[in-house]
Amino acid sequence: MAQPVPQYITEAALLARVEDTLVRNGFSPQVAAPIAATIVACERDGTPSHGLLRLPGYIEAVRTGYADGTVLPETLSTRDSMIVLDAHQGFTHLALAQSRDDLKQRAARTGTAVLLIRNAHHFAALWPDIEPFAAEGFVAMSCVTSRARVTGWGGAKAVFGTNASAFACPRAEGPPIVWDQAASVMSQGDVLRAAREGRPLPEGVGVDADGRPTTDASRVLDGGALVAFGGVKGASIAFMVEILAAALSGSPFGIEAPVPGIMPSKCGQFLMLIDPRCAGTDVAARVEPLVAAVHDAGTALLPGSRRYARRQQAAEHGIELDQHSLDILERFAR
Ligand code: NDP
Repeated sequence: MAQPVPQYITEAALLARVEDTLVRNGFSPQVAAPIAATIVACERDGTPSHGLLRLPGYIEAVRTGYADGTVLPETLSTRDSMIVLDAHQGFTHLALAQSRDDLKQRAARTGTAVLLIRNAHHFAALWPDIEPFAAEGFVAMSCVTSRARVTGWGGAKAVFGTNASAFACPRAEGPPIVWDQAASVMSQGDVLRAAREGRPLPEGVGVDADGRPTTDASRVLDGGALVAFGGVKGASIAFMVEILAAALSGSPFGIEAPVPGIMPSKCGQFLMLIDPRCAGTDVAARVEPLVAAVHDAGTALLPGSRRYARRQQAAEHGIELDQHSLDILERFAR
């Protein structure tokens, strides 16, 4: 029996714990490692909607055979600046981890590199996928599809996934700027947390199964739908993600998820790297006057600032786990 988990835990200890939990529950060590890294990064940086909260979903997906916790991704094709992988119902984390060096080399050679992963599972945050590229000087973008949860341009039923998209660029005088957001007003993870805690949702987040606006998280989850951020403009972004991450990668759309329920769709991921050095520009330096102007205009926080601050705190004091996270770790360690 594993030891009880302390409320404050070092990153390395939590990583070992999560990897061990995944391996005990049907994942190979090779697949478990990058998934655990993402879960721990989210706990460390204060993205609780995609930290340990997601562990039961990963384990359930493998336990039911919906996802494969041991399969290795297959390279379907490579071009000078494109790699296409089939994850064969495995997780995108391993496919991406195995492609990182290759992608960087292709981007450095041709200026850009695109990774397309089909038939995969990704219900994590996206920033851990792209921040490391920006830390090495690349501009990176990524998006993933998910099970249909979001209404279209004014419709009453879910047609698009929550379809996260993320962008990262390097900075000369600080860590990369990374934004990472769902196509919905609120991410599915935050709606799950609100339902679990019995909290009402803000107005404008979701509709019930009859397409009527509701603030009841359980009604949104029970046959209802989320609303795209920014109205019709967000719906357009959600549509773009369906094309880039699903159609282009050769994956099903969110509406084509094979079985109903809460599992992620067999989704696709799109990731693009651009090497500014090939353009002869110094993006990292060019970002600085823009950032200075943003701060001068009264903005204190940049996307990612809060995460970097929490990361620093975690390095000094350890990662703080709430009771729900502790319960998850204890439950699945058995
Ligand atoms: P949030 O609304 O919490 O944040 C969206 C972005 O806005 C973040 O980059 C955040 O930065 C930034 N931001 C928020 N507040 C401020 C502020 N005051 N000033 C400056 N920047 C700010 O994210 P979402 O709820 O939309 O998404 C949460 C996560 O869910 C994402 O990581 C996303 O990848 C994930 N997701 C995953 C899906 C999947 O299928 N894999 C589907 C949908 C979502 P910061 O990072 O600093 O908080």
